[in-house]
Amino acid sequence: MIATMDIATTKVERSKLQDLNLENIPFGKYFSDHMLEADYENGEWKNIEIKPYQPLLLSPSLAALHYGQAIFEGIKAYKGADGEAYIFRPQDNFRRFNVSAERMQMPQVPEELFMDGMKQLVELDSKWIPDMEDHSLYIRPFMFSSDEMIGVRPSEKYKFIIILSPSGPYYNAPIRIYVEEQYVRAVPGGVGYAKAAGNYGSSMYATAQAKKKGYDQVLWTDAFEHKYVQEIGTMNVIFIIGNKAITPDLGSGTILAGVTRDSALTLLKEAGFTIEERDLSIDEIIEAYKAGILYEVFGTGTAATITYIKELRYKDFVMHFDTDKWKTAPTVKKWLTDIREGRREDKYGWMVKA
Ligand SMILES: *Cc1c(COP(=O)(O)O)cnc(C)c1O
Repeated sequence: MIATMDIATTKVERSKLQDLNLENIPFGKYFSDHMLEADYENGEWKNIEIKPYQPLLLSPSLAALHYGQAIFEGIKAYKGADGEAYIFRPQDNFRRFNVSAERMQMPQVPEELFMDGMKQLVELDSKWIPDMEDHSLYIRPFMFSSDEMIGVRPSEKYKFIIILSPSGPYYNAPIRIYVEEQYVRAVPGGVGYAKAAGNYGSSMYATAQAKKKGYDQVLWTDAFEHKYVQEIGTMNVIFIIGNKAITPDLGSGTILAGVTRDSALTLLKEAGFTIEERDLSIDEIIEAYKAGILYEVFGTGTAATITYIKELRYKDFVMHFDTDKWKTAPTVKKWLTDIREGRREDKYGWMVKA
């Protein structure tokens, strides 16, 4: 695909890249030389530019800071076998971004601005894609309301920005998960399906409580009965039970429709598993564990890709998993990484040239 939109670009005089060691780089801490910025005003997008990464000058009355109209996306770019920059399934993130925007009463971002802006930015900073296995350039598009006015109403002005952060393996160690049955993340009719900033703000307390008990994250359950599992912090969750890969369905709007979730399900199907997207209760999970047919549990998400779960705790019942013996999650993880880094055929057309 050829980038078509003409975007005013100001380049840095000196790249920060030479000061940085991309090996063992912490997630989300360093940003590339450039950013894309655009303003929504009077019903149209304007001031679209790529410029040196820099702080924003914002009013204390900025609407987003008070009432939380803020959404984001997470996408990754990789270096292909041909040395070119490729972005993983960006169209899916573009669509989801506008689904989130609609739910938060924010304007749609045109495909041209989102896709061409992202491609041109990634292309310009393509040297920032670390050329190492399991490394990538994390792309963070986001939008927030920018009216300078503290009346409660949808803002009239918005800012859309894309920044880039080189990243290595995220949670590489298997994690311990606490099944949450007091606090809730999302309810039917709520904003669980939107990648809204507030969903994260409101989940931190419960996660902190779980951390005090020695767990890394919580597995959210439904708000009414605390019986059906939903997702984990920043990840969707997949259970391998017998020859089935089972994951909560997206129907109730309480779960984020993860691109990695969809990719993992596609690859699990290719590996011969029967895919079931449906309500999955904690009772069924425990029963399968006791019967010895709950083989693997893992999280999926752009930041972490596939994260193995070595312990799952529900009340006083603790399920342990010997992740060293697993076959399925490691295979899916390897296939996914190999497709992204150009070592496996991209038969689903997931990689898009920047
Ligand atoms: C982003 C996100 C995911 C994972 O989605 P991907 O598209 O795979 O990155 C899962 N759950 C929540 C709550 C998220 O915000």
